[in-house]
Amino acid sequence: MFIDSADILVQAGNGGGGAISFRREKHVPKGGPDGGDGGRGGDVILIANINIGTLMDFRYRREYVAENGIPGMGARKTGRNGKDIEIQLPVGTLIYDAITNQVIADFDKHAQVFVVSKGGFGGRGNSNFATSTMQTPRYAEKGKLGESRSIRLELKMLADIGLVGFPNAGKSTLISRISAAKPKIADYPFTTLIPNIGIVRVGEGQSFAVADIPGLIEGASEGKGLGHQFLRHVERSGALCFLLDGLSEDKNNDYKILLKELKKYNPDMLEKERIICITKSDSMNDDQRKEVEKIRINRKKPLIISAVSGENVNELVALMYHSIKKI
Ligand code: GDP
Ligand code: MG
Repeated sequence: MFIDSADILVQAGNGGGGAISFRREKHVPKGGPDGGDGGRGGDVILIANINIGTLMDFRYRREYVAENGIPGMGARKTGRNGKDIEIQLPVGTLIYDAITNQVIADFDKHAQVFVVSKGGFGGRGNSNFATSTMQTPRYAEKGKLGESRSIRLELKMLADIGLVGFPNAGKSTLISRISAAKPKIADYPFTTLIPNIGIVRVGEGQSFAVADIPGLIEGASEGKGLGHQFLRHVERSGALCFLLDGLSEDKNNDYKILLKELKKYNPDMLEKERIICITKSDSMNDDQRKEVEKIRINRKKPLIISAVSGENVNELVALMYHSIKKI
């Protein structure tokens, strides 16, 4: 489990002011007050959305400001209300008040809604204040200020994609190449060795988490390496991406060993969608490259990548994203 988090500022709209105005008509010499009310400021509304995977987008945009209400006008015209702002958050997000550290909302269902900042009321126009003793009130109310809040968003996540490979296959290098953020590791049973986790951003509202499993070696599922402790981390991931070292002698055999380890650990791991890559293409000479081009794994051509030159890295990210979308 790890924590994706973001701090943002939410500012609701201010209410529009009431108008001070008097009726002016040709045949009415002294018109009465007709100042309309100001519109209400827009709210900031949080909405849980099952299609949002991470808090990645909030690292780019930290302030969310709703529209102010429009002031009132003459002829008792009310100003328009400010538009609300809707912020879509992943299901599973906890929302904290950043000042008090209190949880103010806990999103556990799709489409759950929480108004986090209320827009200010519009002020009343002078037409509201005429009385028998004061027939020409020359005052109106100001709009009320919208609420402003600092909030912290926290999402506990599991990896969407687990990277599987021998030590030195290139897992960490790939993660640092494709990920846009390093989330905080939480509640991890092994604090000395921490899995490498990154959040990959594909586009707005489109992001996913990748975790590597350090040190998966032959015999890992029996406790030889540390790998099997980390396997727990990807147990519930959506898909597995196998990285086979481009400089290894026998990639088919490497693949078989990795599969065997996964199966021993938990046969369900083999039910997951698999993406298979051969790494370090930049370091191959022409002969090695030709050999690698001929390799088929499960009768399919693996993706030949390089985290150094970037070859096929975008293609890999697209495959990863699509494999998650299928789940
Ligand atoms: P991990 O143990 O699977 O996490 O592997 P690392 O990412 O730490 O990489 C192991 C070694 O391979 C390091 O020396 C990396 O610099 C190197 N390496 C990783 N990816 C590439 C690559 O695409 N091209 C080349 N030439 N070297 C790479
Ligand atoms: Mg590593």
